[in-house]
Amino acid sequence: MTPNYRRQPIMLTAGKGMKVWDSRGKEYLDFVAGIATVNLGHSHPQVAKAICRQAQKIIHTSNIYHIQPQIELAELLARNSALDLAFFCNSGTEANEAAIKLARKYSVEKSRRGHKIIAAKNSFHGRTYGGLSATGQDKFKKGFEPMLPGFEFVEFGDARALSKAVDPETCAVILEVVQAEGGVNVPPKDYFPAVRKICDRNNVLLILDEVQTGMGRLGKLFGYQWAGVKPDVITLAKALGNGFPIGAMLARKEVGEVLAPGTHASTFGGNFIACAAALATVKTIIGQKLCRRAEKTGNYFMARLDELAENHPSIREVRGAGLMIGVELKLENSERVADNLREDGFLVNITQGKVLRFIPPLIVSPKEIDKLIKALDRTLGQFDGEVR
Ligand SMILES: *Cc1c(COP(=O)(O)O)cnc(C)c1O
Repeated sequence: MTPNYRRQPIMLTAGKGMKVWDSRGKEYLDFVAGIATVNLGHSHPQVAKAICRQAQKIIHTSNIYHIQPQIELAELLARNSALDLAFFCNSGTEANEAAIKLARKYSVEKSRRGHKIIAAKNSFHGRTYGGLSATGQDKFKKGFEPMLPGFEFVEFGDARALSKAVDPETCAVILEVVQAEGGVNVPPKDYFPAVRKICDRNNVLLILDEVQTGMGRLGKLFGYQWAGVKPDVITLAKALGNGFPIGAMLARKEVGEVLAPGTHASTFGGNFIACAAALATVKTIIGQKLCRRAEKTGNYFMARLDELAENHPSIREVRGAGLMIGVELKLENSERVADNLREDGFLVNITQGKVLRFIPPLIVSPKEIDKLIKALDRTLGQFDGEVR
């Protein structure tokens, strides 16, 4: 294999709900969830059943034919969102790729502006050239230039900076609702309503990358509901299939309809098994009211972390929304904290080298949070002395 992944020294071989086990039989509570992906918890019976049943019926035909579970999934997503039309693909970066192509096509055919797209500094939109070009972090682009032309970056959370950057060439703005990979950066409450106004005034599309904030993560089915705006386009992936690969771009009808026959496609996009997995996932999230639960447990989690911050000089800040929570540390090499926690039986993720990111399954219980808090309290105690 190419050495592009920096892997932790364990191999996970089984999981159930919040728990995973490694190849030596050690048990962990999983606060990573495959990077905000396994929102229902591991090996969810409804999802597993849907995948098995579909696999025994038919796995693949191609989008040159109608696909029943794809139609059902599109209807379910449209019924539960402010968007009307769906395009299905296999990953987050592909969903963003579709959104970028759609924005430029919409500009050529309808809004008659240019091809410029404004994105945010510190954003993350994926690793293909479209997603990478929209990503506002140079470290991911180094050695891969040139990027797609026509992207400009502004400070996240600063509506005035965005307003200044919008010119007659601008056709779209692409933003995460909460910057996830960028360090769990939560914008001010009035940011998105202001962004929406700027887009409306200029006839510019608002694309929200909900690959990580969607599917209940922020305590609402979609992050735009948390942000208090209606976007023109959203992109989904990660938790949409509870770990089975699927991505989606959802658009308002007037926008999405510019993708006329032949303009965009994917061989595997929206295939039977992916759609069956996603249907079971979305129905379960809604049916079990997991968004409300994520909001409540998220608030509890944040409150417990705030308490911890009072006693640990190694914590710089606690921030987050719903069950996407970041704890910024003042330590050099924060990976050591994650390593300690892993040895204690807790999986956590570090982003930007200094932010502990907690993105557990939405089913995490207050008791499991208490266990993590206890372990984190002990671990940080060992590092507090390094902070002057
Ligand atoms: C993970 C992520 C992506 C990329 O998704 P892939 O499925 O890895 O291509 C894009 N945008 C955001 C916000 C993400 O968190």
